[in-house]
Amino acid sequence: MGHGEPTSIRHFVAVHSAKGGVGKSTVTANLAAALHQRGYRVAVLDADIHGPSMGLMFGDDARPERGPNEDYVFPREKHGIRFLSMANLVNEKTPIIWRGAMVHNMIGQLLNGVLWGEIDVMLVDLPPGTGDAQLSLAQAVPLAGVVVVTTPQELSLVDTVRGFNAFRQVQVPLLGIVENMAGFLCDCGHVTPVFGESSVEILAEEFEIPMLGRIPLESEVCLDSDAGVPAILAHPDSAAAKSIGLVADALIQKLEQTGAAGAFQLVWRDMDWNERVDHPPETEEVSGDLRAVWQVSNDELGLLWQDGQADVLGVRSIRLACPCAVCVDEWTGAAKLDPESVPMSLKIKHLNTVGRYALAIEFSDGHATGIYHYHRLRRLAVGEAGSES
Ligand code: ADP
Repeated sequence: MGHGEPTSIRHFVAVHSAKGGVGKSTVTANLAAALHQRGYRVAVLDADIHGPSMGLMFGDDARPERGPNEDYVFPREKHGIRFLSMANLVNEKTPIIWRGAMVHNMIGQLLNGVLWGEIDVMLVDLPPGTGDAQLSLAQAVPLAGVVVVTTPQELSLVDTVRGFNAFRQVQVPLLGIVENMAGFLCDCGHVTPVFGESSVEILAEEFEIPMLGRIPLESEVCLDSDAGVPAILAHPDSAAAKSIGLVADALIQKLEQTGAAGAFQLVWRDMDWNERVDHPPETEEVSGDLRAVWQVSNDELGLLWQDGQADVLGVRSIRLACPCAVCVDEWTGAAKLDPESVPMSLKIKHLNTVGRYALAIEFSDGHATGIYHYHRLRRLAVGEAGSES
């Protein structure tokens, strides 16, 4: 099973649903297969700790194989898709404290301890709902964004709106909505709206979230999943398979617009004590609103925004404003970081863009879990300018 490639993952996409049973895992498995058919190297991280559904969907529930030493495992691979269920990594006796640091740890282990190899799109099948666990999990990974799966049902839509708001609050982009079980497709070709006429499209418009597609309720989808082969592979001519293909195309288009996670990296260098670079480099665009990012001096970072505003921030003040769960209490928002513990001569080691909306920064004190959203960096710059005057 070993593939011997170093792990590199271009796009992380989370798949979310407000509640269970709407077909989130089915859509994830089929979407993975559709992306693979389109030439993408695809992996699925099944983060639903309550049951390893990906194993069932792909007809392979074996445990992952050990890597070159006991710190690593290989993902499973079926139908050309690499996958791993979190539920496979814990045994029956492991108490699942499904919160905070534990979630971060698990994600860390899954990203660093699993030999994924080269992956273009990693789909993360989130547990249903938008509790703290899902949100911190969504923040622990540099996500390109979230795909929301819903059914046309009224009740499911209320929860779905709650989900939109929750992801928006933590600045995770919503890539689009998939409406599943959008009417029952009878063998005669007639579509019956079992859940009533859909208002998903109206909702998408109201919240300005793109519709990625609608998938009908079709018996093959269910039967094929039970048989361990996604419908798009087992019955490529079915209406559901075709609509999943369209969802995959729409998602690819969104991802190509969004840009790859970690697409831009800045490596800090040792500058002389009196050396300064006041002008940004000639860069077209780093990502999203950020046009350029550069090292001003040993302990200052420069940011040039698309609107022409240039900000210079002290590295230490960026570190002190770290929003991660180690530095700020996730539940109360209270600061946990003691400023005295941060060295005065702090530097950056390197930084990466996260999607089109944030920077991930590793500091010279080894701290690397902070993800800085652009709006936060801009607010920080305003604060610094205010304190100088
Ligand atoms: P979730 O992950 O949201 O809990 P599942 O993916 O496990 O939901 O799907 C729940 C059930 O609905 C499964 O039996 C699945 O085969 C079935 N299902 C999902 N989508 C469809 C569809 N479009 N047509 C028919 N059955 C579907």
